[in-house]
Amino acid sequence: MNLTALPAFTDNYIWMLDDGKHAVVVDPGEPAPVLAALDARQLVLAAILVTHHHADHVGGIDALRDRLKGPVYGPQRERIPEPHVAVQGGDHVEVLGLRFEVIDVPGHTRGHVAYFHGAGTEGGAPILFCGDTLFSAGCGRLFEGTPAQMHRSLARLAELPGDTRVCCAHEYTLSNLRFARAVEPINTEVADYAVWCTAQRERGLPTLPSSIERERRVNPFLRCAEPAVVRRALEHGASSDEPVAVLTALRQWKNDFR
Ligand code: ZN
Ligand code: FE
Repeated sequence: MNLTALPAFTDNYIWMLDDGKHAVVVDPGEPAPVLAALDARQLVLAAILVTHHHADHVGGIDALRDRLKGPVYGPQRERIPEPHVAVQGGDHVEVLGLRFEVIDVPGHTRGHVAYFHGAGTEGGAPILFCGDTLFSAGCGRLFEGTPAQMHRSLARLAELPGDTRVCCAHEYTLSNLRFARAVEPINTEVADYAVWCTAQRERGLPTLPSSIERERRVNPFLRCAEPAVVRRALEHGASSDEPVAVLTALRQWKNDFR
């Protein structure tokens, strides 16, 4: 299986998984990068997975229908271009012979879902398509959900196997790391990771996929119970040392952070 991040717009990635013959794409906000990749590699588009309703994730679906030889899967609680197969947490979808579990991860939007494939027969590490919920070293903005929902969603993702390949829908890693460094100046893994990510970007390469293990170590939004993170959140207006209060303060601080 090949896992490829197709750049779209200014900082989106449309993830493509293919077996050399068939491909599935995730959150095609625009059609052109997908069509170019299908043509270049002579792939049949077998399915589309959608994590949430924002235009930069669904805008290319209708233009791809001509080429699509299978279903569009999207979250039941959101308005996704019709027709599509509505899915929700606990459901399973099978694409390219791989079984993906649907996980409800509300917070960025009300009905946001993620797709997780556990260690499979094809031998690769597990794969997570998490849309705009979990970013490397950050998380999505709370447009529709509450901090408590986002906290629960991120905690759920943080429990996945450490070697899970984390396929986020945006290249936000470097700016997230600037914030992570402000939160945890003494976290050397944040500093080391920033060096590596800077080099990747200078070569025009993605910083993604990340891994769950790495996110547990560098992502402040997964570290709301760490004493150093709690202290910083309290300095930045957290109402208590409870993880949800810490996340609320971090998210607000990040929104204003330059
Ligand atoms: Zn979004
Ligand atoms: Fe987005």
